Amino acid sequence: MSTQTTRPQLSYLADQMNELKQKGTHFKLRVLEDAQAPECTVDGKHVINLASNNYLGLTTHPKLREAAVAAIKKFGVGSGAVRTVSGTMTIHMELEEKIARFKNTEACVVFQSGFAANAGTVSAILGKDDFIISDELNHASIIDGARLSRAKIKVFRHKDTAHAEELLKEVAGEPGHKLIITDGVFSMDGDIGPLPALCDLAEKYGAIMMVDDAHSSGVLGRNGRGTIDHHKVHGRVDVQVGTLSKAIGALGGYVCGSKDLIDFLYHRARPFLFSTSHPPSVAATCIAAFDVLEQEPERMDQLWANTRFFKKELGLLGFNIGGISTPASETPITPIVIGEGRLTMEFSRELFNEGVFVPGIAFPTVAEGKARLRTIMTATHTQDQLTKALEVLKKVGTRMGIIK
Ligand SMILES: *Cc1c(COP(=O)(O)O)cnc(C)c1O
Repeated sequence: MSTQTTRPQLSYLADQMNELKQKGTHFKLRVLEDAQAPECTVDGKHVINLASNNYLGLTTHPKLREAAVAAIKKFGVGSGAVRTVSGTMTIHMELEEKIARFKNTEACVVFQSGFAANAGTVSAILGKDDFIISDELNHASIIDGARLSRAKIKVFRHKDTAHAEELLKEVAGEPGHKLIITDGVFSMDGDIGPLPALCDLAEKYGAIMMVDDAHSSGVLGRNGRGTIDHHKVHGRVDVQVGTLSKAIGALGGYVCGSKDLIDFLYHRARPFLFSTSHPPSVAATCIAAFDVLEQEPERMDQLWANTRFFKKELGLLGFNIGGISTPASETPITPIVIGEGRLTMEFSRELFNEGVFVPGIAFPTVAEGKARLRTIMTATHTQDQLTKALEVLKKVGTRMGIIK
């Protein structure tokens, strides 16, 4: 049999990809040939990796590996069903209890991914008569969850809490539930959401408060407890979302909150009801990761030391690292804002050829005209690797006229 090729009824997809090729923003997937680490092999080339959410270096931590292997030996490789049928294993319950204790909430539900946690939760807790007050830079999974809920979506300008209040006033007389939702840390800009002011608004207008801490778990707050701990707004956020796919080093997402909320999600969140639960090895890995957060706080210290160093040096080189047309980053995510999509992608390719891996990010992931390289620091980058990466950024940036 010959390989399936595009038939005419799908040719419009190829047309759209040709348009991207003309714009210079079409990409080929880069393939990592060894482990997710600060130095690695991508597409056959040895590179310094500035492209990973592996903030604490846990993807290759010996304790996490051991936990995964032990769980496979004991329980096999798959859970065999969705959680509500026979796919809830002791280890899934242990993980949820562990996260709830870590976050100091009554309960926790684990989803297959952070995406599923957001989309599944927002769409379950709201309906068509309700209102969602959402930051314009919130993650795609929040936007999709909001659309699935069929609630009315009111978008406020990025971190503009006065605008959020205007929107809340507009709907204050309506009977529906109101949900205020923000990223704890914004994934493309690295700035921190205004939680205290939003919590004030939630209390003033009787709204539900929800925070997505995907980029803050393991990064901000005591031992990486996230932005609720960072801002000391304990008890004021009803729905706390986190991911197990970034700093935790494995895969998954979770929601922490009251027992009632979690019980409701067990009964109503569609990814929980209709998609198979984690393999036991993933649950075991995540349990080990939360132990590491408590036992090895030096990882977070090193993450922040690297972040401060790298940000300062990027600024000194003259790169636009936000603050004028885009928010200034306050976290290990540091965007280098270029503006034009084609130039951004070229810059990324040139850096790669010189041994530094930083992906270019263009429309539709960020707004038109705000294309950027997105650098991410981790705890396990060495001083030597960072110095080398900065030298290459300087050389290529100067050659391409991006810095003087
Ligand atoms: C990455 C990310 C998610 C999705 O998490 P996954 O576990 O990768 O599905 C959700 N929200 C934000 C803000 C993110 O950055």
